[in-house]
Amino acid sequence: MTFNEDYFKKVLIELLSIDSPTGYTKKVTEKLKSYADELGFEHFLTNKGNLVMKVPGKFDKNIGISAHVDTLGLVVRGYKGDGTLSFSRVGGAILPTLDGEYCKIYTRGGDVYTGTILSNSPASHVFEDASELKRDAANMHVKLDEIVKSEDDVKKLGILPGDYICFDPKTVITEKGFIKSRFLDDKLSAAIILTVLREVKPSHNVCAVFSVYEEVGHGLSHLPCDLDEFLAVDMGCIGDDLTCTEYDVSICAKDSSGPYDYDMTTRLIELAKGAGLSYAVDIYPFYGSDVSAARAAGHDIRGALIGPGVAASHGMERSHMKAAENAAKLLALYLTS
Ligand SMILES: [Zn+2]
Repeated sequence: MTFNEDYFKKVLIELLSIDSPTGYTKKVTEKLKSYADELGFEHFLTNKGNLVMKVPGKFDKNIGISAHVDTLGLVVRGYKGDGTLSFSRVGGAILPTLDGEYCKIYTRGGDVYTGTILSNSPASHVFEDASELKRDAANMHVKLDEIVKSEDDVKKLGILPGDYICFDPKTVITEKGFIKSRFLDDKLSAAIILTVLREVKPSHNVCAVFSVYEEVGHGLSHLPCDLDEFLAVDMGCIGDDLTCTEYDVSICAKDSSGPYDYDMTTRLIELAKGAGLSYAVDIYPFYGSDVSAARAAGHDIRGALIGPGVAASHGMERSHMKAAENAAKLLALYLTS
């Protein structure tokens, strides 16, 4: 398969530009529908909002693949009395990395406000503990770009507890191929799946699921298709004693949910090795995937996990075009073998 870099980058940048924290994903699944229409794939939304594309193959076996398009985010928790907002996390963002980030607040009434996420000791000329204060939800707030001085002022804007706070993904693809953005987990994989499905005719019937509750653990706890096996495509972990780099496709042998299917994992390793791809086999110490969710929910499926290596996950993430290409090529081999 030739990796169509232009299509991949276009889709990736478009997906990353749509705010889609878990529970607020309608706009991103609308975008995915438009890709499915362009590519001529049948598609439907499940009740909880997962977007499914069906791609017929030459044989009868039914293969599932998935990437999640929900991301980390925050919601308004309450009003702090001085016109700022307290917040609650949606998914597990590394909160110190959010200190100073610009954000948007989406109200249920349809208004959008901008603001900044800050620590409660935000000024070094005033607060002795400006550097040391622990950056956690109790010690941080959102400062709105509005003239608001009280709880009532904020309420008048129509901002309510539960409203989504979306932080800027800050997407950049450098000339040397580095891909920097929050939320490469897992929009990088969603763009890889679309790029592959556009290029290859799969051997088996493919049910491609773009899930929207992965970051809170139950993304694919319900499988929308009858499946023989299921491959999750999600970011590969990097760091400590793990062997993956930002240039590799990672094959996960085991994560927090336990080992992945031995034979499928072996087959993926052999496909990567046979094609001379740059790959790594690792265990992920703190991780679960859509396959984990499906199996925990009781589905009798074989499951495996691959993905492009992503550094600094749930912080300011980075990968490289080479990781995307290696992951795309392994996925293409899997779907056509
Ligand atoms: Zn993920």
